[in-house]
Amino acid sequence: MVDIRSLCVLCGSRDGADPACPEAAVELGRLMAERGIRLVYGGGSIGLMGIIADTVIKAGGEVVGVIPDFLIRYEIGHKRLTDLMVTDSMHDRKRRMFEMADAFVVLPGGLGTLDETFEIITWKQLRLHDSPIVILDVNGYWEPLTELIHATVAGGFADPGVVDLFSVARTPAEVFQSLAAAPAPKEEVLTSHL
Ligand code: AMP
Repeated sequence: MVDIRSLCVLCGSRDGADPACPEAAVELGRLMAERGIRLVYGGGSIGLMGIIADTVIKAGGEVVGVIPDFLIRYEIGHKRLTDLMVTDSMHDRKRRMFEMADAFVVLPGGLGTLDETFEIITWKQLRLHDSPIVILDVNGYWEPLTELIHATVAGGFADPGVVDLFSVARTPAEVFQSLAAAPAPKEEVLTSHL
């Protein structure tokens, strides 16, 4: 079992069309604060990013945002976090978020969320890390994503084992069940190569 003290949440810089998405962000943030789990995220104050950060802060939890210099203006860098780290590039942002996280949760989001999600899954495939990744599939939003990954296996472009690189939860409460069931990371992962 993995000792989760710091969770990186990847999510949209918009609220999404389904009110269940902001509701899931609030519930996930509430459960994290209740468990004393630190939120690591992209540092913005808009969309699901802002919603989960606000929730954790309001509930007395710790939040670290990591935002590249050029995005502070567009994603309206959050002003009330425990810590806001400013990086020179998107690559540096993702590396810093990765380094501070014991596990990753993916809430609904757009292309930026997809990029971050695929990076963290492919880094696991390459054995650069062995941390749990949980996709929170709010009302089936991420079904096309998991179908696409299954299609890469059916098409002969990925090993059947890739579907075990992540788990899928339907509710924020299920996220913590998945994390509790995740095996402890293996010793030999190559994080030094990142
Ligand atoms: P989105 O899901 O598009 O709303 O973006 C969610 C987060 O991903 C935001 O913090 C974006 O800054 C970030 N993001 C957007 N595009 C990229 C990208 N190409 N690579 C990495 N992160 C991105």
